[in-house]
Amino acid sequence: MPTSSATHAPLVPTGLELPPDLPVCQTDLPLDWYQEEFKPYAQEYFALPDHKPATLFGWLDRYVKPAQAHFGDTLLLLAHFYMGGEIVKVIEHYGGGVSDSYQLALQALRNPHKKVIVESAVHFMAESIALLAHDDQQVWITNPKAGCTMEMLAKDYLVLPVSDQLEERYGDELLVVAYMNTSGRLKALAGRTGGAVCTSSNAHLVVDWALRQHKRVLFVPDQHLGRNTARKLGIPADRIATLPDPRRGAIKLDEHCVAGGLAALDRAQMIVWGSYCGVHTIFSAAMVRWWQSRGWKVLVHPESPLEVVEAADGSGSTNYLWEAVAKAPRGARLAIGTEGHFVKNARELAKSRGVEVMHLADAPGFANGGCGCATMSRNDPPHLAGMLDLLRQGRAPELNRVLPGDMIDELSMRRERLGAVERAELVGHARRALERMIEIVEGARK
Ligand code: SF4
Repeated sequence: MPTSSATHAPLVPTGLELPPDLPVCQTDLPLDWYQEEFKPYAQEYFALPDHKPATLFGWLDRYVKPAQAHFGDTLLLLAHFYMGGEIVKVIEHYGGGVSDSYQLALQALRNPHKKVIVESAVHFMAESIALLAHDDQQVWITNPKAGCTMEMLAKDYLVLPVSDQLEERYGDELLVVAYMNTSGRLKALAGRTGGAVCTSSNAHLVVDWALRQHKRVLFVPDQHLGRNTARKLGIPADRIATLPDPRRGAIKLDEHCVAGGLAALDRAQMIVWGSYCGVHTIFSAAMVRWWQSRGWKVLVHPESPLEVVEAADGSGSTNYLWEAVAKAPRGARLAIGTEGHFVKNARELAKSRGVEVMHLADAPGFANGGCGCATMSRNDPPHLAGMLDLLRQGRAPELNRVLPGDMIDELSMRRERLGAVERAELVGHARRALERMIEIVEGARK
């Protein structure tokens, strides 16, 4: 993995504060949702008189501090911006880092002295950290049930049979671009086909790089980011083919596989997998216009539908949205179309600076309120306390350990782990796909 300015940039503190009277309110889970080993911690957490910082930290300190003393500077706590409640502030309170999925992925690589990395976010993010980790670094997820629904609709057993058919039809012309929100198995597919990983901020650079090689791109997994990227690059609608919703069953390349049949598929420069994020697809162009007609600027994440992105004043990654809020001039009014917990935290950050922030879906008259990433928020304080305490005691459940290539079914908790040889091969391909992304982005900066 090359080092570059992109891989060296340190994580920036969010600037969020934890008011003493604000409960650290998670989407509290029923007890039977906890792994057996975590139930005692959940029972203690439920029995607390309240979840305000003084009470919560008094309890969490009993587990976090001994673990920090035990592991010293080799322990690294990480969380994603979309974590529910105040847990991002809890992670920062204990010296951990909060960022988007791309920056999180680089943390093991960037911090070789960190040997035990504990992640409070979804599984593909922990796996991305593990992909780039050194051999002596361990990656753990506080709750393996925390899956990204977009990734869950693009498991390897759904995508590989289709990519095989496409490779059979188009040979070397086919190149896979895998969004960061994919398993290591799909990142490895990208690497094996000469393709690359991408993030929401550089997807246009990566797809453009592929098209300049006269490749036909299979973009996985998000159909909306795929279409938004294609349109940003000026690809006409009739050169984009969207595969069916993967929940409808096995996809066979025949006259019914895409609108317009095989002729449309053969014409497509970009073939887009049919997954999506339930959090980002509640937005509509009418919501955008509602805010704009009242003088608000609308910024959205490109996992939103095309018509929303086209109607908005700007679109970009989680970091783009956070920076837009952090740098907005006093008096600015921003309606943000992305994950609900992120917008709540951004609103808090903005208030102290005289900037108003609202959630795009919180416009009157629209049925959908802005929702948070519920699956990511399955990493709650008892999971953090339990993970650290069990690690300190040397009895952390193996299910919480994350290795590259792990395929986890978040519903049944079945995990399929590769053997050492297959894993090494997967890591090689997936790292190559990540390296290509960095080379493309660095090349575009010159
Ligand atoms: S917000 Fe959507 S895309 Fe992001 S992690 Fe959650 S389910 Fe996945």
